[in-house]
Amino acid sequence: MIVHPAQLGHQLSLNENPYGPLPSVRAALTDALVAANRYPEFLPRRLPGLIAERLGYPPDRVVVGAGATGVIMHILQEFVTPGAAVVMAAPTFDGYPLLTDTVGGRVVEVPLTRDGHQDLAAMSATIDPGTAVVVLCSPHNPTGTCLRHDALAGFLERTDPSVTVVFDEAYIDFVPPGDRADTAALVERHPNLVVTRTFSKAYGLAALRVGYAFGAAPVIARIRRWQLPFGMTALAEAGVRACYAAEAELALRTETITRECGILTAALRELGYRVPTSAANFVYLSGCAPAELDRLRVGFARDGIQVKHCATGIRITVGDTAATTAVVTAAR
Ligand code: PMP
Repeated sequence: MIVHPAQLGHQLSLNENPYGPLPSVRAALTDALVAANRYPEFLPRRLPGLIAERLGYPPDRVVVGAGATGVIMHILQEFVTPGAAVVMAAPTFDGYPLLTDTVGGRVVEVPLTRDGHQDLAAMSATIDPGTAVVVLCSPHNPTGTCLRHDALAGFLERTDPSVTVVFDEAYIDFVPPGDRADTAALVERHPNLVVTRTFSKAYGLAALRVGYAFGAAPVIARIRRWQLPFGMTALAEAGVRACYAAEAELALRTETITRECGILTAALRELGYRVPTSAANFVYLSGCAPAELDRLRVGFARDGIQVKHCATGIRITVGDTAATTAVVTAAR
């Protein structure tokens, strides 16, 4: 039986794009299916080449993986020896504590500031000779807050180059260009900086599992050692190629999501909730008393709205207009 998405209520717990693939992307994927009996490349060359070309890098500056999650896994496998520390904000993307555990690393959590920002001074103070990796996200998950270029640049200057700094830009395409850190300049200066991105969010290809990292060639070569032979699908390459050919149409969708994010933020603030200004496709209700969090949990569940419950608040993905109305009605 095929279940229509409307019967599932509103799926707002995974920061997915509410829109299915564009017709041109769907057509490219259908075409690629014709050759589904054939293996993809043994180790991906064309897909990282395509992404590198888009970024203006030689191919050896980019590594791909099964979503940004796959790339993050390979980064931790390469740089985290058993017992070494991985410093991250708390809360952060669940994958970081989970995968750190998988590779035998030690999770070191640094609480967010009261207004939902990563506390860079506290994170720097936590780094010691036992630290292998530090993770920063911009926009941050679950708060949607951005790290300014100067703050990141300062952090990198005072971080020992033996520590690998992962700068996670999963939601970068939602950020106004003027608010983005100049990562292209920073990777030239800091060979220990690795920037990760994904096609799961603004590009709407979460099911295809395509993520990548860029940085200096030596650090990328080390990450690439962990790639699984035949590990990236041929559909991934077809999907990325088609998305790049449809950038203008995709940008319109991203703008719609950004607009809806503003509407949802304003409505929730109007109801009295503390909501950091989000530059991503989700908002974070924070500063709620436990009883209020419980009330919201019950209300969202009753209305068939799936959201992400964190220790300090609730993260809600921005969906379509109907989803915004449903969220605001349930919260009220
Ligand atoms: N980083 C962050 C900050 C995320 O929120 C996510 C997904 N929720 C990812 C990485 C991983 O995304 P994917 O594996 O789908 O590329």
